[in-house]
Amino acid sequence: MLKLSEAILATTRPQYYGGWAGRVRGKRAVCAMAGAFEAAGLISLHWMFPLVSFNIIQATLQAKRIWPVLEMRRTCPVGCGTAQQIDYLCIHLSDDHRWSRQRISQWVALCEEAIEPPKAIPLSREDAEMWRELTGTNEAEDETEVAGVPSH
Ligand SMILES: [Zn+2]
Repeated sequence: MLKLSEAILATTRPQYYGGWAGRVRGKRAVCAMAGAFEAAGLISLHWMFPLVSFNIIQATLQAKRIWPVLEMRRTCPVGCGTAQQIDYLCIHLSDDHRWSRQRISQWVALCEEAIEPPKAIPLSREDAEMWRELTGTNEAEDETEVAGVPSH
């Protein structure tokens, strides 16, 4: 299952502001949250121009089960003083501060880390050697590939 921060970036639709979904320059667009819900398979959108329908209440309940980070309470990172749950703040950052999905995703990733801190696992000697071998090999391959690609 995608993390919320990954699901936010997983949609290919343009970002919609001020509502869950609509049209941006004639294209079907979704807000940061609806895009994440759709990417994770929590909603299917029915486009009936100019309307779009889907069960957002159901999707939000499901989303809170798979992404507990949505119920974390935080203050707005922009500093406007809004204190709310992450699900509200994602919409707030998009609609009120016009944050891009990339920016929202980066901020959500920080909140996710606060719930599940990255684990540091000591490597065994064999694993450490394998790691050095693998990374050494990868670097050599990367250089070859880069050399073969024409620059802009
Ligand atoms: Zn704010």
